[in-house]
Amino acid sequence: MKKILILGGGFGGISTYQRLHKLIHPANIHNIRIELISKTNYFTYSPMLHEVATGAVDREHVVQPLREILTCCGKDFHQADITGIDPKAKIVHTSTGDHSYDILVIALGVEQGFFGTPGAEKYALALKWLPGAVSIRNRIIKSFEMASEMHDKKNKEAMLSYLNFVIVGGGATGTELAGQVSDLIQHEMRQFYGDVPISLSQVSIVHAGTRLLEQLSPRASFEAKKHLYKLGVKTLLRERVVEVTKNGVSLASGKSIASNSVFWTAGTESVLQSLLPKNMLTERGLLLLSPTFQTPAYPEIFGIGDCASITDKQYSYPPLAQAAVQAAELVSKNIIAHISKKPLHKKEYKHKGDIIPIGNGYAIYEKGDFITTGFLAWLLRRIVFLESMFGWGNRIQVLFEWIIGLFLPRDTSEF
Ligand SMILES: Cc1cc2nc3c(=O)[nH]c(=O)nc-3n(C[C@H](O)[C@H](O)[C@H](O)COP(=O)(O)OP(=O)(O)OC[C@H]3O[C@@H](n4cnc5c(N)ncnc54)[C@H](O)[C@@H]3O)c2cc1C
Repeated sequence: MKKILILGGGFGGISTYQRLHKLIHPANIHNIRIELISKTNYFTYSPMLHEVATGAVDREHVVQPLREILTCCGKDFHQADITGIDPKAKIVHTSTGDHSYDILVIALGVEQGFFGTPGAEKYALALKWLPGAVSIRNRIIKSFEMASEMHDKKNKEAMLSYLNFVIVGGGATGTELAGQVSDLIQHEMRQFYGDVPISLSQVSIVHAGTRLLEQLSPRASFEAKKHLYKLGVKTLLRERVVEVTKNGVSLASGKSIASNSVFWTAGTESVLQSLLPKNMLTERGLLLLSPTFQTPAYPEIFGIGDCASITDKQYSYPPLAQAAVQAAELVSKNIIAHISKKPLHKKEYKHKGDIIPIGNGYAIYEKGDFITTGFLAWLLRRIVFLESMFGWGNRIQVLFEWIIGLFLPRDTSEF
């Protein structure tokens, strides 16, 4: 009996698990057992977190219990924090005990990075996991309650600081979040906080780069900035946050923005530095892989997703959910090939394109030289979201919420 152990219940881990089972069962390969370890007992559909952060979608609908997905062969799942990996002994150490393996798949993703910015981790809220998205939603609502109080007390300075929302990072996550926050303010907050002068509310993106959405073309960046401007979002380019305090942010240019709501979306940090020997990792702490997705020193260890980096540029995969899902197909086939002592394969990544929704009813779609903006791109994004979610229950509930959202306001209860 060979034991395949998958670490991480995100896009890479789940997709590898599902594809492995599809390969094992029809071929009637019974001498293989697959187990998965993850620290939360649910999968998070991160592309929709900005909608949870702004109340457009309920938090329950972007997660799915792992035990609902991993039901193939009985006991397949362990909820535990992975604390170390010993590749020589083929043992994974966790908060609940040790696990041995014959084949290991490392799919642990990355954590939010803060570039060592003083105060960022303490005072900024990160949109990386579900609890962060829920905190952002509550912070926006609380800020409007406080702004209303400060307005009553005629304390304009304090009121403005509650009405200023600073988003750090102008990549896809920051741009999408800015669009949604602005939309929430212009609709529900305008409707329910009639005593608050909404025109004084300001959403700002602070981005160190020269343009938004740097992974897309300059035209897409231009369209994003233009649409955000229409929504009232201020874009500060070539500007860096050097400190976050409970009163706001200080910028490298010497300026500062008073704000009680700083939302952090820039940068990532490896989770592998404390788990694996240094010589298995890149300088940034990512798992070094060959184009067959194996670690050079230990061919029984495979890696996938955001935590991994393929040394050969021609075969490198970007840190995207669509790349992790695509890689899972090859990784699962290569695992079976490795067990059966057959040749392993390499495959170049095929990008399906990018769709960046900015507020309700507008998105930018880009694939190669083709670019389109507006409502149809936004509709396409929704279809792709639904198609790529795990589980019909969540798909139906999210679709229902989107339809209801066309007629009814979002829920603005703070919880
Ligand atoms: C807000 C947001 C929006 C995004 N939008 C898009 C999008 O629209 N399209 C797109 O293609 N990509 C998007 N991405 C990127 C996408 O989410 C990642 O590329 C994808 O999740 C990577 O999959 P993964 O399996 O490598 O890691 P993850 O999905 O992050 O999964 C990692 C897993 O490892 C577990 N884990 C980590 N450390 C430990 C430990 N020590 N012990 C136990 N378990 C552990 C975690 O709990 C998690 O289950 C977005 C990301 C974010 C944050």
